[in-house]
Amino acid sequence: MITRFGAAVPTPLARRLKEHLLRADGQEDCCFVLWRPATGASRTTAVLVEVVLPLEGERIVHGTVDFTSAYFLRSASLAAERDCGVGLIHSHPRGQGWQRLNQVDHDAEASFAAQALALTDHPLLGMTFAGGNAGHSARIWQKRDSRHYRPLHAESVRVVGEEFSVTFNSLSFPAPAVTSAQQRSLSAWGQQTQDTLARLHVGVVGTGSVGMLIVEALARTGIGRLTLFDFDSVETVNLDRLLHATSRDARAKRPKVHLAAREARRAATAPAFRVTALEASITEPNGFAAAADCDVLFSCVDRPWPRHVLNQLAYAHLIPVIDGGVSVDARGGSLRGAEWRAHVAAPGRACLECLGQYDSADVPTERDGLLEEPSYITGLAADHPLRRKENVFIFSTAAAAAELAQFITMVAAPAGISDNGAHLYHLTTGTLDRRTEGCVPGCPYDTTLLALGDTAPTVTGRHLAAERVRAGRGTFRSRFTELAHRLRQPRS
Ligand SMILES: [Zn+2]
Ligand SMILES: [Zn+2]
Repeated sequence: MITRFGAAVPTPLARRLKEHLLRADGQEDCCFVLWRPATGASRTTAVLVEVVLPLEGERIVHGTVDFTSAYFLRSASLAAERDCGVGLIHSHPRGQGWQRLNQVDHDAEASFAAQALALTDHPLLGMTFAGGNAGHSARIWQKRDSRHYRPLHAESVRVVGEEFSVTFNSLSFPAPAVTSAQQRSLSAWGQQTQDTLARLHVGVVGTGSVGMLIVEALARTGIGRLTLFDFDSVETVNLDRLLHATSRDARAKRPKVHLAAREARRAATAPAFRVTALEASITEPNGFAAAADCDVLFSCVDRPWPRHVLNQLAYAHLIPVIDGGVSVDARGGSLRGAEWRAHVAAPGRACLECLGQYDSADVPTERDGLLEEPSYITGLAADHPLRRKENVFIFSTAAAAAELAQFITMVAAPAGISDNGAHLYHLTTGTLDRRTEGCVPGCPYDTTLLALGDTAPTVTGRHLAAERVRAGRGTFRSRFTELAHRLRQPRS
């Protein structure tokens, strides 16, 4: 039984729906859609796969709209064939924002919920399109007892791709009031963007030098909910590039993710701010599931395996991934150059592999633990991306700023532009390269893997390095606890 629900629509599909549902004559219209579940730790998202437009005579527009059972059966059998669920979407031509489910719509959807489940093995999805602002509302119809079906309303419906817009369920999830601490943010991008930021659930994968800066910025800006992922501990060598970290944290082997969560709580301006810290890699099943609960993910990792997992979440689960990184060229013992990049992986935009951010051939190498072996790394060419990790704080601030600029461009769409390409900045020449085209032809992410949800191939597994790091801390902690315990014992 699903208890938390959401829906996601890739931009090209949202455009087709709008073209069909927004009629010139102002009457209501409807159509069927196919969807797949994308399951997270606590939320299931219906990712829309395809629109099944009506054939001649399959629906009757007469102010309101009716459809024939032939149209429903054709859509449901198409869904069953492709291992999808079926959904009905109808329009409220003048509606604005989240649409309540009125009695007429309730009864209409309830009347074929049982048949949809029987034919497709997935609950019926119901959606309402608000013509006033082209937003979507959604619910799924789950079985309550042998004869009754009840709608579970979505928390939000997001449109993801070249544009990013979220319609939140304002009945169950109203926007919190803007606080006096957020006045300057509000005056920069207005109420609507601030209301979106306040209700987004953002994941930050990797809370090292770049991730820690991003967490700080998101918490201050008023993001309502953060989930942070990192299994590493603070070490002395991090102190010249990790915001907030002290030598005491390094001595205590404090998990970076707990440092990030503590500082996020201190910095947060959202009144009911929530942060979850996970000492996990996104490549581990529990890390992946928690990431699948997020609306947006920041990628602040530099390894191939986590980037491979994030790439899948961007296209199969429709969760946009804001990725970036730094590359420093210090061959010969002096600074020859540095580059940092930032971009968004999402349907219609280039994926992380097409951007050259990782090579899937390196994923098995990392899974086998070879990247933890110094001899393997030193055996690589000096300019191999896996060797060029000489990151420093100054470049991390630049990379973090570039990722945050991609994020706010995507969410606030200044002057209507939400995608201004993938950015690569060269320190030496002071120039910025921009890539605006999508994936290279033949890339599976924006085609065969798109909107696969749970049917996408499994990319998670045991992460031996993460297990070792956590076990190391466990030993340290239990020794510390034992020592503290002994000190408290009265001397005999
Ligand atoms: Zn209606
Ligand atoms: Zn690609």
